[in-house]
Amino acid sequence: MRKNIVAGNWKMNLVSSEAKMLLSELDKFQDDGVVKIVFPPSIFIQEALTNTNLKVGAQNFYPKEKGAFTGEVSMTQLKDIGVSYVLVGHSERRMYFSESEAFLKEKVNAALSVGLKVVFCCGEPLDIRESNQELSYVKQQLKDSLFHLSEDEVKNCIIAYEPIWAIGTGKTASVEQAEDMHASIRSWVKEQYGTLVSEELSILYGGSCNAKNAKELFSCPNVDGGLIGGASLDHEAFVSIAKSF
Ligand code: PEP
Repeated sequence: MRKNIVAGNWKMNLVSSEAKMLLSELDKFQDDGVVKIVFPPSIFIQEALTNTNLKVGAQNFYPKEKGAFTGEVSMTQLKDIGVSYVLVGHSERRMYFSESEAFLKEKVNAALSVGLKVVFCCGEPLDIRESNQELSYVKQQLKDSLFHLSEDEVKNCIIAYEPIWAIGTGKTASVEQAEDMHASIRSWVKEQYGTLVSEELSILYGGSCNAKNAKELFSCPNVDGGLIGGASLDHEAFVSIAKSF
């Protein structure tokens, strides 16, 4: 049975007092049926690891073990302190930090090589959606940076479909749009890795998912949870989303 997952991407938000408060509130909510992952800014990762039972992920890392890469943190260092997940391919990193498909592939490989699980983000911009090319666009993103993996490796990945036009905009994909893309992603995973792997893989929706629309989105047969940005900064909203399965 694939897992229901809610993951909170805090992005570059909160100061330490706010982060501590949010973590402690999130930690009070226990529901064994749902995997809850937080992706705080890197300076709050240690706090999350030490003082909560939440699964902790990193928003970013540099795909080299160590060395002269000023300002960067490696996947090896993240794994060493107890981080379990990393985000790879978020549209903000593709856009603002020019992360190419080849670099994302390198990040995926590097993360998996040390035993981190990868939440791989994909999704189309508005012009691609408006010209009805979203399926081929997303399929290419997966082919470029994920589908080179072996069956065993891909089992340690989660795919997050995040249409760029829905991220932080208040515009959410309709249930039909979300289910259509998620079912397609699952069918491509099936083509590549077979039925068993495709049925076990969790596919999350991201893009203005909130306490009001989560239930409807999560009721889609191929939507296994959400990658939540803005609403993950509010513990009541995040917990309510986690209760929406
Ligand atoms: C995100 O950036 O991963 C995201 C889904 O953001 P938001 O929920 O704010 O749209």
